[in-house]
Amino acid sequence: METIKKGNRGKEVIDIQSRLTALGFKLGREGVDGVFGPATEKAVKEFQKKRKLFVDGIVGEETWRELVDANYTLGDRLLYLKVPFFRGDDVVQIQKWLNVLGFNVGEIDGVFGVNTEKAVRSFQKSTGLHSDGIVGPTTIKALENLKSVVDSNIKSDFPEGVSARESSSSVAGKRIVVDFGHGYPPDPGAVGSAGLKESEMCEDIGLRFGNLIQLSGGEVCYVRNIGDFVELTERVKTANDLKANLFVSFHLNGSADPVVDGTSVYYFKRNKNFSAEGKKLAASVQRRLLEALGSEDRGIQGADFLVLKLTKMAAILIEPFFITNPERERALRKEDFRQKIAVAVFDGVQDYFTGVL
Ligand SMILES: [Zn+2]
Repeated sequence: METIKKGNRGKEVIDIQSRLTALGFKLGREGVDGVFGPATEKAVKEFQKKRKLFVDGIVGEETWRELVDANYTLGDRLLYLKVPFFRGDDVVQIQKWLNVLGFNVGEIDGVFGVNTEKAVRSFQKSTGLHSDGIVGPTTIKALENLKSVVDSNIKSDFPEGVSARESSSSVAGKRIVVDFGHGYPPDPGAVGSAGLKESEMCEDIGLRFGNLIQLSGGEVCYVRNIGDFVELTERVKTANDLKANLFVSFHLNGSADPVVDGTSVYYFKRNKNFSAEGKKLAASVQRRLLEALGSEDRGIQGADFLVLKLTKMAAILIEPFFITNPERERALRKEDFRQKIAVAVFDGVQDYFTGVL
């Protein structure tokens, strides 16, 4: 970005002034007027001093980034593992709390990376929360409760930091093919009563899943682009050509009856033939999905869908719930719900590689 300093004016200056004001720095009579005057410069210098930056009163790249970071307070947004990493003062807050509570996040750098996510998951597990690494209202509240216990020095049996699991991820080095079901236009898949399309929701969840795989050192390939339709045989060919380790097809179930809901995962089966690896993978993912969603168990099911039949690697097709169920469709609009599903599938894949179950 361009540096912004005394004498500049315009929208960027208004942005800087608003951020400074929100952080409690006084601009005097200048106020938020879009003109970088002496009071703004003074406020920038104070801000830089406070954040241990080079104090020159000029807003360059580093100062700007700090201004953005500083404006996030815990609870403003959902935090979870993704690339690019979330960064900001809300992350700093979480990291400090986790460290105090004995969950090692490593360096407190305000970046929500792999170690922070691991610490969040350990914390969640130890307090009986669902361990998905997503920092939303429930996790924040649990942290606050525990933190106040620690602060007040009351001797209490707050959980010991669970030692982080084996750091070498089982997904590392694996090539995983992600198939977003359907593809609109022309094929939206199932459509909810409020208009959410299966194809688009699968893209969102599938990308989140791919993100988690990548961050664990795995390789992800997508068989189609966002908003594209690709023939099923072509999807299979891509996966086979890539010699992938796994094939994961994301879908959401549909029914004419809005009450119907439940979780199922498919693997290849025809008559007496079935894929043993596919079945194992399906069981791992199904278990994690049920745990995360608390949904009705419709079981893992053998089927000879084309993408399961013709793929040469362990392959599954996931139907986490029914998009035609209005309650589920409403939940789908929330980012934490979509992330939760992605995390559950990811955890199931991890379990499959580590042989848990
Ligand atoms: Zn589908």
